Order: sequence, then C-alpha cells, then structure tokens
Amino acid sequence: MRSILPTSIVLALPLALVACGDDSSGGGAGERLTVAAAFYPIESIVRSVGGDAIDVVTLVPPGEEAHEYEPTPQQLTELGEADVVVYLGQGFQPNVEKALESLPDDVVRLDLLEGLTLLPITEQLPGTEGEAEGEALETGNDPHVWLDPSNMQAMADAVATTLAAADPAGADGYTQRLGEYDTALGALDAEFTAGLATCESDVLVTSHRAFGYLAAAYDLTQIAIAGISPSEEPSAKSLEAVATFAKDNGVTTIFFEENLPDDLAATVAAEIGAGTDVLDPIESLSTEQLDQDADYSSVMRQNLAALSTGLRCS
Ligand SMILES: [Zn+2]
Repeated sequence: MRSILPTSIVLALPLALVACGDDSSGGGAGERLTVAAAFYPIESIVRSVGGDAIDVVTLVPPGEEAHEYEPTPQQLTELGEADVVVYLGQGFQPNVEKALESLPDDVVRLDLLEGLTLLPITEQLPGTEGEAEGEALETGNDPHVWLDPSNMQAMADAVATTLAAADPAGADGYTQRLGEYDTALGALDAEFTAGLATCESDVLVTSHRAFGYLAAAYDLTQIAIAGISPSEEPSAKSLEAVATFAKDNGVTTIFFEENLPDDLAATVAAEIGAGTDVLDPIESLSTEQLDQDADYSSVMRQNLAALSTGLRCS
C-alpha cells in the first residue's frame, strides 16, 4: 500500500521533464539529458551508460584533487541547468554537496553511496608519524568505493535506472549500454580475482589508504602508512615502523600514489628493505593519462600489474 506514494513521485519526474521539453521527440531528436558528474569515476560510469544520448559535465578537472574541490561560478550555473547530478555524498566533496543544496528542485540528485555497503576507513599503522593520507566520509567510512569493480557495477545500475526515469524514450539505450559496461566490469573483476588468487603476500602497504574496497574484494589486507611521501622529508620514526612491519610480514613493495623521487625511493629501499611502486587511486585522470586514452579499466589493469608484481603473485 505505502509503496504507491513513492512510485507516483518517481513517475511524476519524467513527466515533468517531457512536459517542458519537446513533446514530439519520439526518440533521438528530442531534448538531450545533461548529466553532471562530480568527479572522474562517476564521469566514467555516466559516459558508459549514457553514451551519445546525453551531454556530460564533469566538475573536477583532469589532475585535480576531488575531495576539496570547489565548483566554479560557471559550473554552478551548469549544475542549475543539468537534468541529473551524480555524486558521492556523506561529506566526500563538501563544497559540491553545498552547491547541490541551492539547485532548483527539478534537478535530479543521485548520491551513489546510498546503494552501497560502506567500509570503515583503514586504521593507520601504529608508529608511523603524521596522518595517513586518505579522506574519510563524515561517518568515518571510506569513500573509495570505485576501486572495487563490483561497486562500479552497482553504481552503473543506479545511474541507468535514474537516466531511464528522466528520459524514458532513451531507456532501451541505457539498458543496452549498461549491459555492455556491466560485462566489461565483470571481466575486469575476474582478472583481478584470477591475478590475485595466488600471491606470496596478501598485505597491501600504501601511503594513500584508498584501496580498502579493493583489498576487501580480493582478500588482501590494506595497511595505511604515514610519514613517507614525495613532498616531505621522510620521518625516521615512520621509516623504522614500516621497516619492522615489512620485515615481520614479508612485505617487499610499498605502494605510493605517484612515483617517488629516486633519492626517496633509494632511502625507502635502504631503510625499509622494500621497493616502491605506484597504485593509482583514480580520483581523477591527468591530462597525460587522457592523452594516452587511459580510462578506469586501463588504469585498474595497471594497478593489477603493480599488485601482481609487488605481492609476488603467480
Ligand atoms: Zn583518496
């Protein structure tokens, strides 16, 4: 009985869009949806599901940090004109969420965190100094859901449902592209499962605690460290704490978000007895990555290759 009410509200939405759009569209020639994506992983989902049927506006530009991002005045205007805004809520991007509060009521807002099972942020390795890099949600949960391909599948599903509701004429297209995208993500997931099935180490030591969902999906343990980063003098105390942990747990590779300068990599090797490698948290793609036609899947495959080597998988 009660379900009748929410359903009628959801149905009212596409009707309203049709009413103020071109009634005679009949598919193709009508109003195109404009969809705003808060940052790269969401843009990747939205473009994959929306294809040529939609226009996409992405808030965080290439290479920029997602968490603290503040929409420009022009983007605020674009948000107000968008049909759908897709984002991660719970304080992941406070400035974006604040901007959403002042949008007109007819802009559909889709918070992709709502349909997912969230995990707490990983505690930082005791003895490492400073705070481990890696923003947390206001609940203390970990926002980096997109680094598990099965979460990408679930988020794509939610995007397809929302786009179809906003643009019923395009529903078949969204469903078809969702199917293709889902298959591709399923293949990526299978590669990770196979690639990480037999490894000498299951401990993923990282300076950016972005890989909690990835670790949970493939039976790894993420260890978050602080005090060693490309931008600062390494902390002797942190080096020692990580060295002890690495020795006790057979860790031979420490993962950073970007390549370390050679001298720091040499210091880590000498002090900790471990090599270093890069794991990309895919919070945005750099212009270089975009120039090389990188996308979510290709960067994830690079991450898999780095993990496979670093954890000594066969
Ligand atoms: Zn992060």
